[in-house]
Amino acid sequence: MIPVLIPSLPETDAIVPYLRRIDETHTYSNYGPLTNAFTAGLCRFIGAQSGDGPVHAALTSNGTAAIELALRYRTVGRTGRICVMPSWTFIATAHAAANVGLTPYFTDVDPETLALTPDIAARALRANPGDVAVVVVVSPCGAPIEVGAWEAFEAEHGVPVIFDAAAAGLNLRHVGAQPLCISLHATKALGIGEGGAIVTSDAAMAAAITAMTGFGFSAGSRVSEMRGGNYRISEYAAAVGLAVLDDLDARIARLREVSLAYVAGFERIGVSMQAGFGRDWLTMTANAIFDARAVAGVTAAFDQSGIQWRRWYGGGCHTHPIFAACPHDGLPATRGVAETAIGVPFFPTIASEQIAQVCGCAERVLASR
Ligand SMILES: *Cc1c(COP(=O)(O)O)cnc(C)c1O
Repeated sequence: MIPVLIPSLPETDAIVPYLRRIDETHTYSNYGPLTNAFTAGLCRFIGAQSGDGPVHAALTSNGTAAIELALRYRTVGRTGRICVMPSWTFIATAHAAANVGLTPYFTDVDPETLALTPDIAARALRANPGDVAVVVVVSPCGAPIEVGAWEAFEAEHGVPVIFDAAAAGLNLRHVGAQPLCISLHATKALGIGEGGAIVTSDAAMAAAITAMTGFGFSAGSRVSEMRGGNYRISEYAAAVGLAVLDDLDARIARLREVSLAYVAGFERIGVSMQAGFGRDWLTMTANAIFDARAVAGVTAAFDQSGIQWRRWYGGGCHTHPIFAACPHDGLPATRGVAETAIGVPFFPTIASEQIAQVCGCAERVLASR
């Protein structure tokens, strides 16, 4: 069997030196030295990628918490209760909106980029006049986000935008004031186990959201000045994070190598992968886009050959019973996108023979049609 994903984090020996520091400091949580060092290292890595000037971050207990806090921060004083978001996303986006008292309004995505566009979002504003509190733009499976277009959208419509960039930790090309929420879950390219971060160029926003992660206490005080809760990461999580940063260059090189091998393998048989995958950006989920008439045959052949596959976003959020009653825009392209984007086995240690096996299996089905 070839599994669809094998997460891999630093091994024990790489983490131990950081654990010894915890033994020495007796600081286990609450923005300790390892958390501060990891935050700084993360900002350096993202800042170097984007080349946009200083980057600030608030660490959170997971990516879903990052989205919830960004939504709460950006909807203060907004009267509408609708949260515009694409249906084709991981279900966490919808839960995050509902958890902060918003109602998801599910939109379609562009069938080429698999992402929400400013045009689609503008239609959603017209369909809900005065009711939209915020727009969540999702990075589909880690693809880079067109931040500039969304800065223009916010300026034109006066509606705040946040980014669910959960899987895009390696692909943040532009960091502006609009918060980018990333996940540090073990299954993401920038995984540490559990964790998340809100990344922004707005130092005041990062400081305020950091305060929200610790009961709304402002720096150095025990006075709650805003609503918050406990959304911190522990020093143990930060220890893993620091070990991840130590090895990040090697991990990126390996991900690029196996991604490009996949792109070449599928290209040879006339199948596209998600636009830009491997060539322009890196992630942990490899989606091949199959012809709608072939996809059932290909997935059946995968099943027979012990090749695990997954529709990473299922049929879209609107197909989950708990969100089925939420309003949507008709979702004309979403069904096709959900049907034809197939997550194939992908992980840093995947062997070239395994990639050849996956592509060969698809090739036999396509040739027999
Ligand atoms: C992984 C993911 C999340 C949730 O992140 P967690 O760290 O698991 O809470 C949210 N949105 C998208 C698009 C994701 O891929």
